[in-house]
Amino acid sequence: MDIRPVTVGSVVIGGGTPILIAGPCAVEDARMLRLVAEAAVSSGVSILRGGAFKPRTSPYSFQGLGLEALEIMDAVRREYCIPVVSEVMCIDQIAPSLDRVDMLQVGARNMHNFPLLSALGRTGKPVLLKRGFMATIEEWLMAAEYLVKEGNDRVVLCERGIRTFEPWTRNTLDISAVPLGRMMGGYPVIVDPSHAAGRRDLIEPLSLAALAAGADGIMVEVHPDPDKALSDGGQSLSLEGLRDLAAKLLGNQGPGMGKSK
Ligand code: PEP
Ligand code: MN
Repeated sequence: MDIRPVTVGSVVIGGGTPILIAGPCAVEDARMLRLVAEAAVSSGVSILRGGAFKPRTSPYSFQGLGLEALEIMDAVRREYCIPVVSEVMCIDQIAPSLDRVDMLQVGARNMHNFPLLSALGRTGKPVLLKRGFMATIEEWLMAAEYLVKEGNDRVVLCERGIRTFEPWTRNTLDISAVPLGRMMGGYPVIVDPSHAAGRRDLIEPLSLAALAAGADGIMVEVHPDPDKALSDGGQSLSLEGLRDLAAKLLGNQGPGMGKSK
């Protein structure tokens, strides 16, 4: 099956050149997002990620800055000329996100939130659909159908690991999901090694495996000071780590890779 490329700003996902998406788990303040954006743009990253609404396991953990984070992302994307992606957890969060980010993410915990998917389907906005950690590949593709049924085929799938019995990683990266998601759905598939492994020392090998399996991109978490991150610091690269990874993954293709030809 041919892959249906998805355009986000001037970036093409699924056009034959893998892209890199990077950014903090959560936007903590404007300064940290600018530091990450600066490192991202100079390393050839195509899309900046950042969480505004965070789906945390504990209701007492940092929940994200919400609207304030969306406003920071909007400002930073203009300053650095880079598209941004951020998660929405419920229908109410779509409206404030629409004009402030370029791509909307559905997180693993909401892959089965059918009313949310249908509402996103009616926006026509690019959607990054993460695989639920307990979802089969078929269920994931059916979740994508909820978007398509409402007229939105601007869908990029994201494999982020599934729950298994292995305790040394946060989840288990299912490499089969890369070729199967592409072959059976025709969607570009990107891989998130940060949430798959839960540890930064596995980000590079898992990224290389994903690209070898045909992934259309990689999404990694980055923080200027990972040890002080308010969420997911252990699986976040430092700015230096991002530069190293980008050099390894993007090679000499340099900044601008993934832009429309
Ligand atoms: C995220 O990407 O910020 C996130 C919460 O990931 P997931 O939904 O895959 O757990
Ligand atoms: Mn995270």
